[in-house]
Amino acid sequence: MNTDALQSQLESHFKWFHQHPELSNDEHGTTAHIREILTNAGVEILDVPLKTGLVARIRGTTSRELGTTSRELGTTSRELGTTSRELGTTSRELGTTSRELGTTSRELGTTSRELGTTSRELGTTSRELGTTSRELGTGDGPVIALRSDIDALAITECTGLDYASKHPGVMHACGHDFHLTALLGTALLLQAEKENLEGTIKLIFQPAEEGGGGAQQVLDTGVLDDTAEIYGLHTAAKKTTGVIAVSPGPSHAAVGAFRILLRGVGGHAAYPHLCKDTIVAGAQIISGAQAIISRNTSPFDQEVLSFTHTEAGHTWNVIPPEALLEGTTRAFSVEKLTLINEQLEQIALHTGAIHGIAVEYHWHINTIPTNNDPALTDFVIETAKTMGLPVQSCLPTMGGEDFALYQQRIPGVFWTIGVGSPCAQHHPGFIANPAVLHTASELMADLGRGALRRLRGV
Ligand SMILES: [Zn+2]
Ligand SMILES: [Zn+2]
Repeated sequence: MNTDALQSQLESHFKWFHQHPELSNDEHGTTAHIREILTNAGVEILDVPLKTGLVARIRGTTSRELGTTSRELGTTSRELGTTSRELGTTSRELGTTSRELGTTSRELGTTSRELGTTSRELGTTSRELGTTSRELGTGDGPVIALRSDIDALAITECTGLDYASKHPGVMHACGHDFHLTALLGTALLLQAEKENLEGTIKLIFQPAEEGGGGAQQVLDTGVLDDTAEIYGLHTAAKKTTGVIAVSPGPSHAAVGAFRILLRGVGGHAAYPHLCKDTIVAGAQIISGAQAIISRNTSPFDQEVLSFTHTEAGHTWNVIPPEALLEGTTRAFSVEKLTLINEQLEQIALHTGAIHGIAVEYHWHINTIPTNNDPALTDFVIETAKTMGLPVQSCLPTMGGEDFALYQQRIPGVFWTIGVGSPCAQHHPGFIANPAVLHTASELMADLGRGALRRLRGV
């Protein structure tokens, strides 16, 4: 397929996905449309227990040939082993005969030794073939995975695009429509020349990246248990369209989510001395928490603590008995994230105690930090440069990304492509320029082919 044909096909798919965004774990229409496009292209879809999202597989012909060779070598190895054992037995029997016949049997003794030597040589050959057989594997060749997410956000779009969201209050404002369309393009490219693939590529169309546990759902199916490497892409909102940005190490932060519930005594606003005021205590917790990052953590660390949701009271003349504070913490290690949350808990509990207010503190780790494998990052950079693409390094972001969960199990790289948006991700004005969809597709396809070749040692 030539680039122009691929690009125009992808743009039309992209506009459909942009017009039909769906929230995490509710991507039924999106999944059905992905399935239809892949099925029409003859791409195999695996039977994986996911409610939304799907996993496709493209197996190279070379991979199947290796499997056959592997099985044939295994058989030969077993046959040689049997012959070797039989010759050994013959050799021992001849040895016995030799002794019985005495000096006249010297010639037979010689024959026996020769057979013994042959037997040992056959044994060595047999072991070598066994090793080769094991190295060739089970017949599937190496397996790598390419991943896109597919979900959208609860945001009302204000881009003014003629293909803007048709679903009120829901928008592809993180570019996942771009990612999944690019991965569809990769599937079309790889499927068209799968006879040249040196193994198997799994294409992960992952649901629920935006806090819905999608990566864990995919991992729990076991579909990636045989995978040697994984590559994922994300749009870089403000980077120049088509620039590839990637760096080794962490690119996305670990994300914590906290919830503080205050229980005091409500009452008439005219008699605060008879109440235990949850609003005043809550305000002091928010204010006291500002000292955690600025006074308690190293200035060289990159960390965030933000309150994002407060709720208390209903009217102007009543002190409410309860208040709720929610927010997020970010850091580049789970240890530092834990430290920030422990300090926040202490501030919340002690501030509550000063005011005679009971405080419940809850927090959990939403995602761990991503971690790009240094050697594989070099491989991505070299592959992009070989394609003639502009490559930049990429500063870490305090945003979170559940691709980190794959990287915890499988070496991988999360790379980004500039889409020249006027607004940042998660903004109602975010626009991903679809002009470089084919670039993202082609780079992913080249990474897939290249990784398999490298893993096969070709
Ligand atoms: Zn997002
Ligand atoms: Zn995203």
